Amino acid sequence: MIPAEIRSVTETAPVDVLEAARRLGVQVFSAKLADKVSGVLLRDPSYGSQSGFVIFVDSDEPSYRQRFTAAHELGHFVLHRDAVGERNEDNYLLRSENMSNQQEVEANKFAAALLMPMDLIQKEMEQGNSTVSGLANTFGVSPTAMSIRLGLPT
Ligand SMILES: [Zn+2]
Repeated sequence: MIPAEIRSVTETAPVDVLEAARRLGVQVFSAKLADKVSGVLLRDPSYGSQSGFVIFVDSDEPSYRQRFTAAHELGHFVLHRDAVGERNEDNYLLRSENMSNQQEVEANKFAAALLMPMDLIQKEMEQGNSTVSGLANTFGVSPTAMSIRLGLPT
């Protein structure tokens, strides 16, 4: 699921999602977005990114959520960019209006795999970092996201 060109980015925690985007030719900006919009994947060559796509994440949201949103939008880029029109908007809670649920689930799975590689989690646990909050902190994600990743009830 994770493209080969960004696999090495997933070898250290916290995973550098901006570096992953850069390697895929996608620019990421943090900016004030419209109400209830957490992230946008935009096909707009005028920004001059290598892929022709840019991602905006809502600067008002906490950094762990901006990271997840960027990773989620990157998931849409990797998996669905041919299905994305000029613009795909995501709301953190109501992802999303113009994408099917299936694509939302896939983008979330991609984001989880990118930000929380299982083998890295395993290594952390072997070194005694085994609480949800400790792991969430190490990986720069919310405790809820980490719980889901670990298959724990949230
Ligand atoms: Zn989405």
